[in-house]
Amino acid sequence: MTSPRLKLLPWLVLLASLGVTWLAWDHERDTAQEQLRRQFDFALRDMAGRIEQRVMTYEQMLRGVQGMFSIVGISERDMLASYVDALQPDANFSGIQAIGIVESVAADRLDEHLGAMRRLGFVDYEIQPDGRREAYAPIVQREPNIGVNRSRLGFDTWSDPVRREAMEKARDSGMPVISGKVQLSVDSGAGAPPGFIMYMPVFGKGLPRQNVAQRRASLAGWVFVSFRVKDVMASLYGELPQGLAFTIYDGVTLADRDVLYKSPEDAGAATVFASNEYLVVGGHTWTLAAKMRQAFEGGPGRDTATVVAVAGIGLSLLLSSLVWLMATGRERALQLAQTMTRDLRAAKEAAEDAQRSLAAQAHNLAQSNADLEQFAYVASHDLRTPLRNIVSYAQLLERRYKGHLGADANDFIDFIVENSKKMTLLISDLLEYSRVSRQAAPLEPVSVARALHLAMGNLRPDLEGCGAEIRIGALPEVLAVETYLVSLFQNLIGNAVKYRSRERPLQIAIAAERTGSDLWRFSLADNGIGIEPAYHDKIFEIFQRLDPSGDAEGTGIGLTLCRRIVHRFGGTIWLESEMGRGSTFFFTLRAVSTPRASFSSTTT
Ligand code: ADP
Repeated sequence: MTSPRLKLLPWLVLLASLGVTWLAWDHERDTAQEQLRRQFDFALRDMAGRIEQRVMTYEQMLRGVQGMFSIVGISERDMLASYVDALQPDANFSGIQAIGIVESVAADRLDEHLGAMRRLGFVDYEIQPDGRREAYAPIVQREPNIGVNRSRLGFDTWSDPVRREAMEKARDSGMPVISGKVQLSVDSGAGAPPGFIMYMPVFGKGLPRQNVAQRRASLAGWVFVSFRVKDVMASLYGELPQGLAFTIYDGVTLADRDVLYKSPEDAGAATVFASNEYLVVGGHTWTLAAKMRQAFEGGPGRDTATVVAVAGIGLSLLLSSLVWLMATGRERALQLAQTMTRDLRAAKEAAEDAQRSLAAQAHNLAQSNADLEQFAYVASHDLRTPLRNIVSYAQLLERRYKGHLGADANDFIDFIVENSKKMTLLISDLLEYSRVSRQAAPLEPVSVARALHLAMGNLRPDLEGCGAEIRIGALPEVLAVETYLVSLFQNLIGNAVKYRSRERPLQIAIAAERTGSDLWRFSLADNGIGIEPAYHDKIFEIFQRLDPSGDAEGTGIGLTLCRRIVHRFGGTIWLESEMGRGSTFFFTLRAVSTPRASFSSTTT
């Protein structure tokens, strides 16, 4: 895939995953809405059912009162009081303001009616509103006779068209009928709560009531139950579900003046659902208009939709980041590799430059070293012949003319001979030194014991002269050049002789020990004068002598030669010493792969 397409991929993935998130979120929101709708419908039906049920209970109760008065007659006031008293504890009848009797009084019976009421003890009983009318229907009893129910009797319900309509319907049908919206006669003032009244006709004892005409003729009055709507609703509901609000209208036109009841509602929140339910209660129609407010929406469904949205967006971002990382990973790896290659190349070039300049320096150094060694060799080699001539002629001079040229001349001749010999020694040492450096003879297995034996043979007069005692341990074969190994031992043992203590006979111990690696470590210990620690390194340098003016003859080249030989054999040389007690020289040499140790012990 080309690079621009790779760059587009994370965005495509983000777009697709956000799309899927949106679908899931939308579906979840729809489901939640649907669930809410079902809850709302259920709540509405439940409320309508409760109201209808309650009104039917009131009807049943009123039928009971009607039945009772059909038997005992409407004038038996005490019966109603006892009846209501018996009903009081029943929760199904809560919400009732009063149960009472309305008597039907024709105009010609008005005086008789007033007289009868006053005889019952209601001395200031009057019909209100007053005025002459064809018929009256005054309230003559209210139970329970407590609180506001004790207010004046005598209100002519026939004078109120709303009540009258219901009473006429009840009378003509013989059935319970509910009035429209009224203000109860016990409530006064403009702010009185809305109420309604259920009427049930009571007919004269034993009179016919089969048809409308008979029912009108037989009518004695009505029993009624009056309600304040808010009390009825309060008895039906403790608390409404959150966010649910409803209004009950009298009739089907939803006008403000027809409002029977309005539940408290969350005015600020927007309406999510609204629905109307029509109720036919006691031959009368009410409209139950319910609304569900936004507050009700905060249910579990909404939470799930939010979680889906948040999680979906988060996962989409994560997914597209992963794709981005994968898509650009190769490119970044390539860039990194290129940078690293560049750096490496630069480092390699720098290292090569350094190596080249080092090699050039090493070459120059080797060249000047070779020149120097060549010079030393040529000088010492070429000096030998004239020196040999000087020594020869000085000796000739000594033989022929010693004693003939005076005392001073004798001393001069001695001086020339002695220094010429010293110079011969120096030149032969120098020659030996430069020979070791110049000749690159290949290393081969050499018996150390044999080399030591040869060295001791060369030194025999000196060793016998001082009566040295030499102890030799087991000695192996090593990789070396025999002549140089002989020279190494000869120098070290020669030094032990030269720098022996005058206070005790010379003792020398030579031993070898295999170290962890492929090296043998040799030690050559004497009991001579010893060397101060400060000079342990210095004495290996050329021409370095600790006591040039002492008895011992020397050139200061011996130990330098030893070091060069050991280095050429791939080893190292060092020493340990204690002033006045002796010195031990150590050196390492490379072992032959299958070491064959030989042993010899010599005492001289
Ligand atoms: P040279 O013996 O010719 O003077 P070397 O290089 O062999 O030169 O030794 C350098 C110096 O180290 C000597 O002058 C001497 O002072 C000291 N030296 C070498 N070997 C011993 C030894 N075994 N005991 C004490 N001093 C020593």
